[in-house]
Amino acid sequence: MKIRRYLLHEVINRPDFQKYFDCSGIQGYQTNKNKVLFLKSRKDNQQQQNNKDRRCNICNQNLLDASYCSIQCKVF
Ligand SMILES: [Zn+2]
Repeated sequence: MKIRRYLLHEVINRPDFQKYFDCSGIQGYQTNKNKVLFLKSRKDNQQQQNNKDRRCNICNQNLLDASYCSIQCKVF
């Protein structure tokens, strides 16, 4: 399983990780060709305005349409 860097954060291929872990509810992101998940919370990032007001259940980060911002937040 490959861990790669995206926007200075560690991410992992969602299809790969899905084999080992239930990824439902975790916010995914599309990179060039891959769907990826963030390994760790990015709550230190600058927050963007989000009218939908979806937030990570753990760290309160704004999300598009998920319950957790990262694998870390779902596991812990
Ligand atoms: Zn989070």
